[in-house]
Amino acid sequence: MILKVIVDLSTNAVDRAFDYLGEDVPIGSRVSVPFGKNQLIGFVVDKSETTTYDITKVKQAKYLDSPIDNDQLSLVRFMTERYNLRTIDVLRLLIPSKLRKEKAPQSTRIFLKPITSSLDEALSVIGTRSQKQIDAIKYIWDRNGEFKTTIGELFGSATPDALVKKGVVEKDNVHERAIPLKSLSVKDKTVTLTDAQKDAINTILTQDGPFLIHGVTGSGKTEVYMNCIDKMLSENKGTIMLVPEISLTPQMLGLFRARFGDQVSILHSGLNESERYDEWERLRKGESKIALGPRSAIFAPISNLGLIIIDEEHDGSYISESNPRYDTKEVATERAKLSKAKLVLGSATPNIDTYQKAKDGTYTLITMPDRVSKYKLQEIEIVDMLYEFRGGNRTPFSGRLLEEIRKTLDKNEQVMIFLNRRGFASYIRCPSCGWIAKCSDCDVSLSYHKEDKVLKCHYCGKQYKVPDKCPKCGNIYIKNGRVGTEQVVELLEKNFPDAKILRLDMDTKTSKDSYFKILEDFKNEKANILVGTQMIAKGHDFPNVTLVGILEGDAALFFSEYNASETTFQLITQVAGRAGRAEKQGKVIMQTYLPTHYVMKFAKNYDYEHFFDHEINVRHESMFPPFTKLIRILVSSYEEKDGTSTVKNIYKKIKALESTTGPYVYVGMNRSPYKRLQSQYRFQVIIRLLPEKFEEVRDEIYKIVNEYKTNKVSVFVELNPTDLR
Ligand code: ADP
Ligand code: ZN
Ligand code: ZN
Repeated sequence: MILKVIVDLSTNAVDRAFDYLGEDVPIGSRVSVPFGKNQLIGFVVDKSETTTYDITKVKQAKYLDSPIDNDQLSLVRFMTERYNLRTIDVLRLLIPSKLRKEKAPQSTRIFLKPITSSLDEALSVIGTRSQKQIDAIKYIWDRNGEFKTTIGELFGSATPDALVKKGVVEKDNVHERAIPLKSLSVKDKTVTLTDAQKDAINTILTQDGPFLIHGVTGSGKTEVYMNCIDKMLSENKGTIMLVPEISLTPQMLGLFRARFGDQVSILHSGLNESERYDEWERLRKGESKIALGPRSAIFAPISNLGLIIIDEEHDGSYISESNPRYDTKEVATERAKLSKAKLVLGSATPNIDTYQKAKDGTYTLITMPDRVSKYKLQEIEIVDMLYEFRGGNRTPFSGRLLEEIRKTLDKNEQVMIFLNRRGFASYIRCPSCGWIAKCSDCDVSLSYHKEDKVLKCHYCGKQYKVPDKCPKCGNIYIKNGRVGTEQVVELLEKNFPDAKILRLDMDTKTSKDSYFKILEDFKNEKANILVGTQMIAKGHDFPNVTLVGILEGDAALFFSEYNASETTFQLITQVAGRAGRAEKQGKVIMQTYLPTHYVMKFAKNYDYEHFFDHEINVRHESMFPPFTKLIRILVSSYEEKDGTSTVKNIYKKIKALESTTGPYVYVGMNRSPYKRLQSQYRFQVIIRLLPEKFEEVRDEIYKIVNEYKTNKVSVFVELNPTDLR
């Protein structure tokens, strides 16, 4: 039998199947093959009886195992075609890195066994200085031993080794699968489902979908998901549940552990290689039937797949913006189709494109308009920061917010202060009149580029000088108005010396432990105020938080993304949803320089419907997605001239293509906003065209692009990118 094998090397030159001789193994099998001077791992993607090569020269493949099933392989084909990806890059998404070595790994775990003759003896050795060690040894004696990772999770990562050193326990290697965060289960609540929940569950279980659950924050979507998963389990079917990485909180994981025990495999980025492999292996063998994780969990090896859930479906993390680039929702749609599984998307603030699909009937819309709690969402109080500025207030806090913080602290309730921050982007604004620098051609906000001190439009490349005074009102204090989280914490400490304040942002997120710990500490009310960025916006359920303050509620509006209004609306809603989730009424105060902007107007009442109506009109008028497909062809090279000539050639070919297929909405060529990143010069061709036109010319565009990939120039295609760095 001739096996067509993709070898585990990611270069354009070997991006095709090679012929090998081998037994008749299933497609998707892993084999070991000689390749040049090396022995490599490969994947069988096809089989045939004959070869066009000289059969005496065709080499032998050694069968290892069969980790990929047919549906998954079809998914690989779908992705390579749709996104112009190398097959091996997609295959690598499907298997844990341990399987890229020939020997399938046996994982061992360290078990801590008590070795003193009694607990008392151990306690006397430990002494009284470390409460953690005392608690840990009691725990270990209680269970006659426990895994090291569990003890580390519960009593601090240094505790296990300290106990070993003191000679009260010894390490033992055992072959057992690591079940991450097993200790983390919280008490499962049994709840009586609300009518809205019952309806949602019923619709999902009796119809085909795909479904969009549009449910306000706190409407009990998670309970709906879990009930549907339960139903799948009873039919012996598996589920993939995707959440943004950021909402994989201890709470969320604990909830799923408590409800589903070992039936759930957790696949988050904090796992080490062995844990990841073990979870993957449990799924593949059917020992666990639920994969819970961020976007990469869409590739989980579940053979009898019944359900795919994408929670917070609007979240940007579902789009992979580096190689391999793909859109998780599209991949999920395809996987659901291949496996005849149901697809459920859920959000309080659906993506504009998704909601449009619900409106035109592509998705079945399920609405959950009310909170479960009897304390309903309350109107957001908007504070006009221009007014504050004119009144002489130069701090990031309004009088109203300070007043409410005081009241909340006095009631012994908690406060969250949210600062709008998005990665690299920065904008220029006048604090006196609210003027914002915009592109005169594209009507999107300009980004301030520190390295060359200019304002740039990310959509057409036009550059502008930074004005030295406001063109509208003449104010000279025009600046990029960003306040840092540290500064906010400092000011809060000054104002509220009695309060304990925690901070959570990219800088404090040094490890998954510190991130978990800050959230846990806040949940356990070890602090009164939590200050943070986007990272505190999602998914968390803190019952004692009754005040949420949003600083710079409009900041994301100034980022030069065509969907800036959408992300701003989403963020405000998500953050505001953190207040008053349990048995107390919550309050939200939003500070903004644009109190009358339509985003503020609709966000204030959580009025998604009207926001959508407005936004979809804006998109239509400006011809941005979903009315067009936005394509960026990104060219980068170490030598500037290589990139320049390539981008020019690609542009010419695209223009030629356009002349044969009819006009596109926009085609332009320029340097990328970040003209040099990681020592590579960057250029781009930007195309906007009607979605149906895109389907027509997609392969032609990929053909053009592939023609210009060399070892000196890399060329990538991005579909509907929002982050045009
Ligand atoms: P969402 O995901 O829609 O924001 P959650 O699923 O987190 O909402 O639910 C919000 C809160 O309401 C949670 O604390 C959850 O435990 C609780 N909850 C959900 N359904 C019910 C119910 N039927 N009865 C009582 N409490 C519920
Ligand atoms: Zn001004
Ligand atoms: Zn422009």
